[in-house]
Amino acid sequence: MSDIAAPVAALVEELSKLPGVGVKTAQRLTFYILRSPNDQARRLAEAILRLKESIIYCSRCYNITETDPCSICSNPGRDQETICVVEEPLDVLALEKTGAYKGLYHVLHGALSPLNGIGRKDIRIDELFKRLADGKVHEVILATNPGFEGDYTAGVIKDGIKSELAVPQLRVTTLARGLPLGGDLEYADEGTLSRAIEGRRDL
Ligand SMILES: [Zn+2]
Repeated sequence: MSDIAAPVAALVEELSKLPGVGVKTAQRLTFYILRSPNDQARRLAEAILRLKESIIYCSRCYNITETDPCSICSNPGRDQETICVVEEPLDVLALEKTGAYKGLYHVLHGALSPLNGIGRKDIRIDELFKRLADGKVHEVILATNPGFEGDYTAGVIKDGIKSELAVPQLRVTTLARGLPLGGDLEYADEGTLSRAIEGRRDL
């Protein structure tokens, strides 16, 4: 890339760091942006900056938000006694699109992965336990992604609720089977996801 103008090389390099974007795609995007009108390129750059400057994490559920607490946590119409635990903010988006869930969320920001050295302190499990400790929540739905890491994470949370919290009335459920194994919640279609919520079972 040494023969390529430095600004082009720099953008190709940055874009190719994005998930799912290889060098070829990064080059294609770079030349597309180069050919596009100035104001379009400026809007893209500004949208990226605004995202980083205005998005924060909700101090209750750790979802991404512009206000703290987020619009879901601060909505009195939501069922305050049910918390759905997910791995990523995109999972909240997927579940919200179904319209089938009216409770609150807790975003872990990852899953436990002993193989990759991701332990309990690396994700928001302790923060979840703090929310559950006062006994006001009556059901926790563990909606981690289907697959080894998601199932393992759900198991650790379930065991922790039993052994570390004095909340015997708390029901721990998980989504109904039928979600594609190894697929992320965010890729499940709305019908499948609605059925998975409605058919949830005790864990
Ligand atoms: Zn929130």
